[in-house]
Amino acid sequence: MTTYSIHVVEYATAPDNPIGAFLNGKYNAGVCPILFGFIVIRGEGIVALVDAGFDWELHDKKHTSGLTVDKWESPAKVLQSLGIAPADVTHVLPTHAHFDHLGGLRYFPNAHFYMQERELSDWVWRMSLDSRFRWLTSFVDSADILECIDLARKGRFTLLKGRSDNVLPGIDLVPAFDTHTAGSQYVVVRNSARTQADSWILAGDLVYQFENLDGGDAEKPFYLPIGAASGSAFNLVMTTHEMIEAAGGDRTRVIPVHESRLAERFPSATSEYGLKVIELCLGDGHESVLPSVEARAAAASNR
Ligand SMILES: [Zn+2]
Repeated sequence: MTTYSIHVVEYATAPDNPIGAFLNGKYNAGVCPILFGFIVIRGEGIVALVDAGFDWELHDKKHTSGLTVDKWESPAKVLQSLGIAPADVTHVLPTHAHFDHLGGLRYFPNAHFYMQERELSDWVWRMSLDSRFRWLTSFVDSADILECIDLARKGRFTLLKGRSDNVLPGIDLVPAFDTHTAGSQYVVVRNSARTQADSWILAGDLVYQFENLDGGDAEKPFYLPIGAASGSAFNLVMTTHEMIEAAGGDRTRVIPVHESRLAERFPSATSEYGLKVIELCLGDGHESVLPSVEARAAAASNR
């Protein structure tokens, strides 16, 4: 019995990114494309997103200076290419508060949010420091932090104190403190009768590329931490091990959401926006969304 269908939904691409940001120490390895996306978990009346995307029109552009974002489309719109309206989203599980993971929280009027308390409080503390410490607030939009506090005040944002199992049936949130950010978390979906078998690990930015999981050495794999982190490379290595263990040792079940090659590893379709929808798995009785994504894209191109 497989409970949930899981899809990676791309809402923007960035063509030229320094590989050193993704693979620690690879300073002269050139550039590579990355995907900007969020993940949809659907089943049992739940439509949960892992991360919320960002609003390119609203957000403070200083956080993306130097980043060439291509083909951005509103996360609310790309979600509709799967037949899901923004109001249908029941839960959002932000892995961390960087603008491209949290900035879309305004799109989902009925969702309840779950993030680590340490992630939010640490950003507030960093924002209070003087300008010499401004590197510590890279990639966070203070307007998003204020929005989280407002949602908490309204009873729509739960701040977790550490590991929280079964936040939703068979879905666990696991902290990875002092790694990519102070209070990052990853999502474990135990997709088969809520046991450890058939688990998917939705890793946020704890890994960026497949090489973080195997060092690019399939024969003798090793854990290669990401480059872009304000916490510890040591903690990133230990978290990578923990995530692979949670996936029963299967590295392909640990999903780096920025990895553009996910579309080669799993079945995928290109939406009417020229962006990918990637099908990680289907719940029992669920049909693939890929044919309807392609049909909508074909109809749009004939208009
Ligand atoms: Zn990040």
